[in-house]
Amino acid sequence: MKVKLPKQVNQIIQTLQAKGYDAYAVGGCVRDSLLGREPKDWDITTSARPQAVKELFSHTIDTGIRHGTVTVMQDHVGYEVTTYRIDGEYEDARHPKEVIFTGNLLEDLKRRDFTINAMAYNETTGLVDAFEGEEDLKRGVIRCVGNPHERFGEDALRMLRALRFSAQLGFVIHGATREAISDLAPNLAKVSAERIQMELMKLLTSDNPGVMGDAYELGLTKVFLPEFDRMMETPQNNKHHMYTVGEHTIVALQNIRPEKTLRLATLLHDVAKPVCITTDEEGQNHFKGHPEEGESMARQILRRLKFDNDTIDRVCILIRWHDERPSLSERVVRRAMNRIGADHMEALFAVKRADTLGQSLYERDRKLAYIDEFEGLYREILKKNQCVTKKDLAVNGRDMIALGMQPGPRMGEVLDRLLEKVLDAPELNTREQLLALAEQEINK
Ligand code: ATP
Ligand code: MG
Repeated sequence: MKVKLPKQVNQIIQTLQAKGYDAYAVGGCVRDSLLGREPKDWDITTSARPQAVKELFSHTIDTGIRHGTVTVMQDHVGYEVTTYRIDGEYEDARHPKEVIFTGNLLEDLKRRDFTINAMAYNETTGLVDAFEGEEDLKRGVIRCVGNPHERFGEDALRMLRALRFSAQLGFVIHGATREAISDLAPNLAKVSAERIQMELMKLLTSDNPGVMGDAYELGLTKVFLPEFDRMMETPQNNKHHMYTVGEHTIVALQNIRPEKTLRLATLLHDVAKPVCITTDEEGQNHFKGHPEEGESMARQILRRLKFDNDTIDRVCILIRWHDERPSLSERVVRRAMNRIGADHMEALFAVKRADTLGQSLYERDRKLAYIDEFEGLYREILKKNQCVTKKDLAVNGRDMIALGMQPGPRMGEVLDRLLEKVLDAPELNTREQLLALAEQEINK
């Protein structure tokens, strides 16, 4: 397979070369091209210093001048152009504390994490592959450039990156690299939550989220998600299950779309089972209250990992209701939609299906048929445009004021009463009928 550079990348490289500098496409874009995958972005590495890069292009952004990175805009797309460098210790996602610029491409490739990420390419020289990166791509292997213990010692995040790339590419981690992770896993504690979150999400939303199991075995989850270790160690002796909580979670992850909220909710849906476990006289396990307790644990965990509030709220709603099983009538489903929020229902059905597929075969068909029917009723309610929240009511606060009410808690109560009636009997949701009902309520 050959690397095909986009026109804009070639323009940048050729402009630099015309001034006597070396320049190459490097890292992820070369790796993905050789794999026949579409690169997400194209990074360029050059012998030119940042100031020289800035002078050569009309439109640039100082992305990380201190670390040698200038973004060059070509046709409204940004390309990161970074000066060849040797790294000191890393302080955040991409920026080592101190860098030394070098004129030597090989020095720059040597600082990169894995052989498959340490290749460079331009059309004059072709592929520069000093560490058998192309061989490792063919073999499907993640292997450190140089001594794995040293490389993970410099930047502990690389251990989690190894698992992330193994999940995204379906590759195995080379023996010595794997051993080094197992030895140095506790060092991940030195890495910021933001950097961990970024790699965790790439792993979790990959084609192989089951790599979470390797993260556990190698001792990495123990550092950033010890709750997952408890899940891996918690049995589920009852007819619905055939795996530990952790293994069940992994199978569920493999059965849900790779979307951030869905994968996070699935990862944490049973996070409270280890603390809610009880055993009855027959030796069967029960996990009463785990969705509620799970919601509060998940909130803490996601805050600790520095997720944004919107993500936390959505994930927590799905965890809170993942075990909800209303009886199947439109009336009861309307009430469920009111409690859960109509916007969360589709995601909830996905979580429920994945959860079921991670359980034993006991009554599986019935469980899946139940979810289908639940979803069918939900769709029917949407189609009929029925009211499930206060804001869907045919009357509002202004109407109550027109009826002589003062704004305040009492007004909220009257609207709540109207909603109660409409949830039971959707045909009541007309302005005329609700105004009449409101009047009765007010005069009570
Ligand atoms: P993606 O396609 O997910 O962006 P990528 O390989 O481009 O994957 P980035 O995190 O964007 O990954 O990093 C770009 C390149 O920088 C990598 O290919 C690698 O060569 C180098 N690199 C990034 N992070 C590190 C690190 N922590 N240690 C060493 N090299 C790194
Ligand atoms: Mg990248």
